[in-house]
Amino acid sequence: MIREVIFRLLKPKIYAELLESRKRKYSFKFYGGDTNKKDIQSLLKHAKENSPYYRVLLENFDDAVDLKIIPLLTKAKIKENRDTILSEKKHDLLNAMENSTSGSSGEACYFYSDIRGGRDARAYRGDEYVKGYSFLNKQLIFWGAERDILHKKSLKSFFHKYIYQQQTLSTYNLKADDLHEYVEIINKYKPVTIVGYPSALQFIGKDIVNKNVQLTHTPKGIITSGEMLYDEQRKVIESAFNAPVYNRYGCREFGHIANECEAHDGYHYNADDLIIEIIDNDGNPCKVGDVGQIVITDLKNYTFPMIRYVIGDMGMVSEEHSCKCGSSLPKFNSVIGRSFDIVHGVNGNKVSGSFWTLSFRDSVLGVESFQIRQDKDYSLTVNIKTNTLFTMKEEEKIKLLIEDKLGDNHVEIFVVEQLEKSPTGKFKWIHSELNK
Ligand SMILES: [Zn+2]
Repeated sequence: MIREVIFRLLKPKIYAELLESRKRKYSFKFYGGDTNKKDIQSLLKHAKENSPYYRVLLENFDDAVDLKIIPLLTKAKIKENRDTILSEKKHDLLNAMENSTSGSSGEACYFYSDIRGGRDARAYRGDEYVKGYSFLNKQLIFWGAERDILHKKSLKSFFHKYIYQQQTLSTYNLKADDLHEYVEIINKYKPVTIVGYPSALQFIGKDIVNKNVQLTHTPKGIITSGEMLYDEQRKVIESAFNAPVYNRYGCREFGHIANECEAHDGYHYNADDLIIEIIDNDGNPCKVGDVGQIVITDLKNYTFPMIRYVIGDMGMVSEEHSCKCGSSLPKFNSVIGRSFDIVHGVNGNKVSGSFWTLSFRDSVLGVESFQIRQDKDYSLTVNIKTNTLFTMKEEEKIKLLIEDKLGDNHVEIFVVEQLEKSPTGKFKWIHSELNK
């Protein structure tokens, strides 16, 4: 195919890495011993030799050290040591791309990505978990982060549109008036996959379900990303687009981390590129089935070594089992919760997103959408968008539901016209300051 030849000529390293990573998807041996040992040792050796921060940190460790005893890297440490974590090697600097993530407080944390293939190849391979899709097939992306929306006349935009066959539409200020136009674009462009934030796809999906617009094209799969995906949203999106949802888990720091496959039973994570540990509050490895902090080491970022980085999300690793999709990459066995999604009760209970979605759906009338904010003193602010079914009686019900589950937290409920989005256009349903 001509586009593949052009891609190969323009991005030879990424192309080669993609071919290799596709092979590893089916041949990778994760369980039983010295997985990635050589890769870990060369990363540590490189970091110690070329990054001033790691030169000091790893001074007393030899290259064969067990990764698990190296101190953790946090966002705060990156902020303090950004310039000294960066490799001094000229060749690494040539491959550095400045990147940033918004921390829990919304304050940006700057770091560098390595553009030598690993990150991009994992993204392309990850999307291929959608049955019937392969890289360079048509993909329509509904994205909220303005910084990712390419300027229409740029060379990069041309490249994405005609070589990658990707079209990106902004959902940053998605309004009811845009929906008709967006569905027209799907019908005309006929993408094999559609990618988007769950909240945006749910918004578009509801209009299709309500038959305000007619979707005539059926994609092979819908890839949700960027926010927590709730069961309710998955149902709306699958029914609207008449296609299965493949949720993916990623972040600015590492790009794609894990993808749902056609089995829809957990998330294959990129264990060939990323060392993922799940640790408890004392820093010890969690047992199978326990939920803990996710800690990641990127084996492909030599520009800005991220060794044992605490990403701020919670996860649970499954026992060894083969997957019917054929991938031999290991899995997280449950939906991964952002740690900021956990709301704490004064009675000691902790509740995650599904408590709220189920309560508002099954027990209260008239709530169309909601946002929960928890302050450090445990108090809760509940912002809701309502319809005509909502009354004072329903407001009392919400307070009782919360009291029943979380105890006597101070609760304030506000009916609002518009719910807030983050500066990157993501919709955060739940945020607790107690998770900081
Ligand atoms: Zn699978």
